[in-house]
Formats: sequence, C-alpha cells, structure tokens
Amino acid sequence: MTRKIAVVGGGIVGTALARELVRRDLGDVTVLEKEDRLAAHQTGHNSGVVHAGLYYAPGSLKARLCATGRALLQDFCAEKGLPFRELGKLVVAVDESELRALAEIERRSRANGVPDLERIDDVGRLREIEPHAAGVAAVHSPRTAAVDYPAVTEAMADDVRRAGGRIVLREEVTGLRIVGPRVRVTTAGTDDVYDRVVVCAGLQSDVVARLVGADPSPRILPFRGEYWSLAPDRSDLVHGMIYPVPDPRFPFLGVHFTRGVDDLVHVGPNAVPALAREGYGWSAVSLRDTWGSLTWPGALPLARQHWRMGLDEISASLVKSRYYRKARRFVPELRPDDLVARAGAGVRAQAWGRDGALLDDFAVDTVGPVTLVRNAPSPAATSSMAIAQHLVREHLR
Ligand SMILES: Cc1cc2nc3c(=O)[nH]c(=O)nc-3n(C[C@H](O)[C@H](O)[C@H](O)COP(=O)(O)OP(=O)(O)OC[C@H]3O[C@@H](n4cnc5c(N)ncnc54)[C@H](O)[C@@H]3O)c2cc1C
Repeated sequence: MTRKIAVVGGGIVGTALARELVRRDLGDVTVLEKEDRLAAHQTGHNSGVVHAGLYYAPGSLKARLCATGRALLQDFCAEKGLPFRELGKLVVAVDESELRALAEIERRSRANGVPDLERIDDVGRLREIEPHAAGVAAVHSPRTAAVDYPAVTEAMADDVRRAGGRIVLREEVTGLRIVGPRVRVTTAGTDDVYDRVVVCAGLQSDVVARLVGADPSPRILPFRGEYWSLAPDRSDLVHGMIYPVPDPRFPFLGVHFTRGVDDLVHVGPNAVPALAREGYGWSAVSLRDTWGSLTWPGALPLARQHWRMGLDEISASLVKSRYYRKARRFVPELRPDDLVARAGAGVRAQAWGRDGALLDDFAVDTVGPVTLVRNAPSPAATSSMAIAQHLVREHLR
C-alpha cells in the first residue's frame, strides 16, 4: 500500500526531500508550507553561494553532504537551465595573526576534497585573482559558485507536482499527534492522518518538534544577517567572492563580498541577535521569541562567551561607518559611499543546546513515525539534495 508522507516546510530542504521521495516513488507526498510561497525564509534570504566545503570538520555530515550536494546541485541547474556560476572564492588572511586559522581552513579543505583548491602566499598571485583585495595569504576555491536558491526550489517543486506530489501553501501545521503507528497532522483547515511526517521547518524546527513531544533542546536562537549592496559602478572591486578568515570561536563566516548570479555584489551578512525568528529588521519584535531566547538556559553561557563580539556586531548594524570598516579591512579601496543601500537580511536557524554550545553539524531526531530536522544551517542550501538522499536512506526506509 502507498505510504502517505507529509513534509512540513517548503524551504529548499523540504522541497528537495519531497522531490527525492516522489522520484523514488516512495509514497504519496504532500508538502505543507505556512507562507504563501516557497523559499520564504532562509532559502530566500541567503548569500546564494554554493559552498565547496572549505570549513567543515572532516567526516562530519556537513563535509560529506556539502560535497555531494554541490555536485547534485550543479547537475540539477544544468538540467533545468538555471544559472550556476563558478565565480570562485578567496579567503583572505589580512595579517599574520590570521595565518594559523587560514592553515586550519586549508587543512580541512584538503581533507574534504575541495576541488582545485590553491594556497596563495604571494601577493602578486592574490591580486591576479582579486586585484582589489589586500592580505598576506589566502586560499582560493575556484569552484565555489553562485545560484538563485528560490529559483532552484521552484524548479524542484515543479518536479514534485509533475510526479503527482502536492505542495500546499498557506497551510501552517499547528498539531502533530502520534496515533498508533501513524501521525495526525492538524492545520487551520485540515486534520489528516499520515504514515510518516518529516519536519523541515527551519527557524521553527524546535517549535514544531515540541508539538510531537520531542526534547525542546536544541533550541533555535535566531541570528539576523544584514546585507549592503555595492554601487554597480564600483562592482569591479570584487570579481567573485572575497571572504575573511572566520573567527573559529563563532559559527558564522564574517562579513564577505559576494557577486550573485545577477552580477550585483552584496556585502554581508553580519550576525546580530534577532528579536523575532522571522523578523528582518530591528523593528520586527516578537515578545514570544525574544522571551524564549532570553530564558533559554544556554543563553547566559552564550552571552558570557560572546558578549564582546555581540556588541561589536550590534553597533556595526546600527552605525554604517562601523559596518564599512569591517568590510574595508580586506578591500581597502572601498569608500563609505560604495555601500549604497541595505540589501535585505536573513535570519539564521542555528541550534543551541541547554549549555550554550552550538550544534555544529546537521542534526536529525526521530519520534516514532516523525523525523525532525533539528539543525540545517549553512551549507544546508548547497547540501539540500544530498540531505534529502541522506534522510531517505537513513530515516525513511
Ligand atoms: C543570512 C544567511 C546566509 C546564508 N548563506 C548561505 C549560502 O550562501 N549557502 C548555503 O548553502 N546556505 C546559506 N545559508 C543557509 C541556508 O539558507 C539554510 O541552511 C537553508 O535555506 C535551510 O533550508 P530549510 O528548508 O531547512 O529552511 P527554510 O528555508 O527556513 O524553510 C523552512 C520552511 O518551513 C516553513 N515552516 C515553518 N514552520 C512551519 C509550520 N508549522 N507549518 C508549515 N510550514 C512551516 C517556513 O515557513 C519555511 O518556509 C544562509 C542562511 C542565512 C540566514
């Protein structure tokens, strides 16, 4: 008998999973998405980078699924005629103090099999790749690419519909109750029973997990990342993508320059605590989300460890000249007026434990017939098709 499977969440992870399920004819698949469009949250508010696997701990799910996911995504874009531009990424050590961290990135990149990676110790070579970047050393990943993730998600959804799957928008899941071997899924307008449910709810993954009685930990502490755009007549300052060496104590990559598929160059994102999970500016405040973050046992250890960096990020969010100074470190010709307009923001769904430690790797939980994706931060967009295969192989057989 055909299994009825519900996927909660129409971001790139949920949509890629639905596509994998219908392609393999593993069930009668319905995607339930609360917004009026797919890719409305993280998938539609990110840097659009197809990561090549530079940063991730060798052997981790992130490392493995990023490598496979990048290749699958490249083939998918070719098949659908979607842009996949290998613009290349340069990770720049601005001074000697960053060389150790750069060496660790090079070690991880090599262990992860990042294709065509080049270590650069010669400023002349660095300038050949990015003539306006400044630094003492770098690693270059020429195969790092740019895509349009919302367009990719829509193309995946077309495949789902063509194969007989359903994508239902404006359908928020408000209840999940296990009844024997099956699950009752409640939305505002429906009450249906499914054989399997997979929750790919991004910023709401802990909220939806609680509906089925799962452990409230890890909790999502939302961190907003804000972008500026570079004046089009100054976009030649950046040929591809220029990244700083990330601070290894912090999960985010630092403000970087990214050329997109549309040739616009974005600068960002920073990382400030968000006052609403789905709030894209300082004026978006959810008392429930903010209170929930403040009272989470892990919040205090987290604040103790990172308060200095937190204040620095908040001030750069509020005062443009401080944001500019961060960006100018590795592109010294940048002028304040080159950052012309705020170019939107995204909120990261990063999972944190009760002890304040962040969950570094992708994480999946199971409660009976319900599979819960608990942590799918960057590079989950890059890895989405490989995450879908992993879920099918390890959790949905
Ligand atoms: C600023 C920023 C930059 C990033 N840059 C990159 C990058 O360059 N490359 C990369 O690979 N990754 C990047 N990422 C990470 C990447 O965007 C995410 O890892 C990925 O989009 C996660 O996809 P998802 O489907 O899990 O989540 P989402 O895209 O957030 O989708 C979850 C969906 O679930 C829906 N939902 C939630 N609750 C319910 C409910 N109760 N009922 C129904 N629907 C529900 C939401 O509305 C949403 O549409 C970035 C993220 C951010 C925020």
